[in-house]
Amino acid sequence: MSDSQPIYVAGRWEESPLELISIAPGTGEEIGRTFRATAEQLERATAAAVTAFESTRRLASFERSAALRRIAEGIAREREELGTSLAREAGKPLADALVEVDRTSFLFRHAAEEAERIRGELVPLDLIASSRGKFAITRRVPLGPVAGISPFNVPLSLAAHKLAPAIASGDTIVLKPDSRVALTLLHLARLIDEAGLPEGAVSVLPMDIEVGDSLVTDPRFKLLSFTGSARVGWDMRARAGSKNVVLELGGDGAVIVAADADLDLVVPRLLVGSFKYAGQICISVQRVFAHRSLADELQRRLVEGAEALRVGPPLEQGVDLGPMISDAAAARTLELVDEAVAAGARLLTGGTRDGAYVRPTVLTGVPGGVRLAREEAFAPVVVVEPFDELSEAIARVNASDYGLQAGVFTSDLATLWEAFDDLEVGGVVIGDVPTYRIDHMPYGGVKDSGMGREGIRYAIEHMTELRSLIITPR
Ligand code: NAD
Repeated sequence: MSDSQPIYVAGRWEESPLELISIAPGTGEEIGRTFRATAEQLERATAAAVTAFESTRRLASFERSAALRRIAEGIAREREELGTSLAREAGKPLADALVEVDRTSFLFRHAAEEAERIRGELVPLDLIASSRGKFAITRRVPLGPVAGISPFNVPLSLAAHKLAPAIASGDTIVLKPDSRVALTLLHLARLIDEAGLPEGAVSVLPMDIEVGDSLVTDPRFKLLSFTGSARVGWDMRARAGSKNVVLELGGDGAVIVAADADLDLVVPRLLVGSFKYAGQICISVQRVFAHRSLADELQRRLVEGAEALRVGPPLEQGVDLGPMISDAAAARTLELVDEAVAAGARLLTGGTRDGAYVRPTVLTGVPGGVRLAREEAFAPVVVVEPFDELSEAIARVNASDYGLQAGVFTSDLATLWEAFDDLEVGGVVIGDVPTYRIDHMPYGGVKDSGMGREGIRYAIEHMTELRSLIITPR
């Protein structure tokens, strides 16, 4: 055996001829080694997911719940190791990584509870004379093997949003985590392995895209649950065949700061929403529309706050932003900024980088045609523009191809309601930035941002299906 971390194939720990070296963003230093699954290993994991489904679908609520609770406890117990691994692999400040670990433990604990309340209903059928006496009972039955594909940015939590509801539902799952965070996800796999589920119920396989693509096309999977970019997600949907598909994709998070907003509250939240984890969050704030009466003051305070943020190595105390995931991601960020400035935008602060480290960047006056106005930046970059009428601000938020979440700072009920009525997004956050998610709430996007919802209870709805029992008593 080498000292590389084996991968989790159908309940066994295996090596493969394909080495995977985990590299720290920012420094390029080697963190550790593991393996990329071969097509043969994926085939065995898939076949095992089909076979194990015959066992998982028969697990009682208390058994599924107990397994999830054990995983939650394991995560809490190994909090420090998991957090350090996550900080190193994803380049995320340690404090943020620990928050993600705690969230993941909460998520499994909550899934343990949801596993106990997957219910059906009694439907009277006697709405016409010929159906007199008839009624139906519905229940949710497990769907079958699930294919999960998750990204690098919030890797533990977003993978858990597939693993936990699949286990709660009585499904089996083959998960392909992003290779850049493979060691952290294999640590989670070890905790799942210890939970006592039927062998083959869960596989965690880092692998090349060419191999992993059969998660998309293989008809033995009944659901593809994908979190990642819009480009990749919609292409997968077109090739997924008859399986169900849930897509949690990108966004260009917008905030409306209404005339009655309190900047003492708004600015600190915008600093978090725009720059946390170097903006590499699907609901990061990319666009701020501020009422003209306070736009200048907001810009001034935001720039002052951005300039005070500390950019540095993720394991160093007091760091606000770590590196971006790669030099290439940082280089693309500066391209977007430079292109906007060349087209007439005003750079208020930032716009520089040192390798993968990008300074928090604020711009205004970004013309509509440039990429920064049309594409997801997925970077520590925010654009602030003034508006006069609320309807104009809402129209500008809606002008995007994306629609994940939007934030509105107001205390005015009419403004709240107009925003809730007219913003084309999956979630409207009042009194805060859109960079807010707690793991049991319904979460997902409209338009290019995706289809379907996560949040344990909502994910369970996708991972089970309704079966009706129609009864004629006599
Ligand atoms: P990506 O789309 O490049 O990759 C996501 C995952 O898909 C990775 O694990 C990748 O290896 C895998 N993948 C890509 N092509 C594949 C194929 N053909 N077969 C199998 N697997 C394949 O996205 P990324 O750059 O890793 O992540 C950032 C994106 O994810 C951003 O757009 C961000 O907004 C989005 N995101 C969305 C949410 C959400 O919940 N809506 C959450 C986090 C990130």
